[in-house]
Amino acid sequence: MFDVAAFKQQFPLLGHYPELIYLDNAATTQKPRCVLDAERAYYETSNANVHRGAHRLAVAATEAYEGARDTVARFLNAASSDEIIFTRGATEALNLLANTVGMLLSPGDEIIVSTLEHHANLVPWQMLAERRQLSILPLGITASGEIDLAELATFLARPRARLLAISHASNAIGSIQDIQAICDMSRQHNCLTAVDGAQAVAHLPVDVQALGCDMYVFSGHKVYAPTGIGVAYIHNKLLQRIPPWQGGGEMIETVAFSGTRYATPPGHLEAGTPPIAQAVGLAAALTWLAQQDRAALLAHETALHQQLEDGLRAIPGVVIHGQAAHKLSLSALTFGHVHPYDVAQFLDAQQIAVRVGHHCAQPLQQALGITSSLRISLAAYNTADDVARCLAVLADTLDMLN
Ligand code: PMP
Repeated sequence: MFDVAAFKQQFPLLGHYPELIYLDNAATTQKPRCVLDAERAYYETSNANVHRGAHRLAVAATEAYEGARDTVARFLNAASSDEIIFTRGATEALNLLANTVGMLLSPGDEIIVSTLEHHANLVPWQMLAERRQLSILPLGITASGEIDLAELATFLARPRARLLAISHASNAIGSIQDIQAICDMSRQHNCLTAVDGAQAVAHLPVDVQALGCDMYVFSGHKVYAPTGIGVAYIHNKLLQRIPPWQGGGEMIETVAFSGTRYATPPGHLEAGTPPIAQAVGLAAALTWLAQQDRAALLAHETALHQQLEDGLRAIPGVVIHGQAAHKLSLSALTFGHVHPYDVAQFLDAQQIAVRVGHHCAQPLQQALGITSSLRISLAAYNTADDVARCLAVLADTLDMLN
């Protein structure tokens, strides 16, 4: 049986604000003590620059950083640690993909981008398309907020469709895609798959080999780890073919005015001093998460989400956007003529933290016919009391504003 009180106690910030009800977990999660300790311990005992030092601290820092890469590889079940590239976050990882894998595309090629995407998995591809004379094919969604698989099949059959950019789970309405089936479809048409796992990793088990994706990205801070660290997984076959993107130290073998030789993959994709302490924090978070009963965490989140959506349906005037069969534990809401921002202000006054706005998914909101929503997103440290209190304050607020 999952003990939420014991789980929650591991998060110092939640102890610091006992009245806080933090329901903005899709934006960022709070951090368990062991992650904060790991980062601090790194700075107190192992801090040095990596890969080039001739002293023992540099060796310790390099071991910590490369050990973190091994931990991420195990977490994603990548075939090799070399397939893991550290970045500043999911956004930088997606920009890396557009600027490296994207360079393998030729003028006239097509990139399929789903309407569910966060701007981070759309704008870098648009920028690439402009530079390289490529086309973007916007992939629509069904009434329930899932990828339109019939349209995907039509797009994949086009001879120039080369790459599919798709989220594992939507940050704005929570829909979870059947990524394995989608990657299967894409592979049959020789179309590469770039999967945005920013929202999925904290909640769902991810096995990149089982999913069959070519690329998978995520951010540390949404999976109980520090900010400033992210990951791009790139399948080795693809990794060996792609050029570097940022130049500088670390990514080279030899440098001369007559010509520079780049480091072997994945080193050629990590220019400059990397986010070492953040990688250590990420490894601590992933190790800690792997030690939890992840099925129990997910069952707890799912039960809370059921409680939340049952309660929301009972409040007059609440519209829930996104009714996918498989959804993350998050709900996007509008309230008729009452603006979501006003509702969020009243919730904040009662120490209930939610997100409001376009959630970096403007094309999705355009498809839904809205310009703003209030998003409640749960994590495993949330409790049934958190949900009940949020529902009660929401009902009172709407009663007052209507
Ligand atoms: N993709 C998705 C689905 C997200 O939810 C986010 C963060 N909101 C990102 C990408 C970008 O992540 P970051 O801001 O950490 O780079």
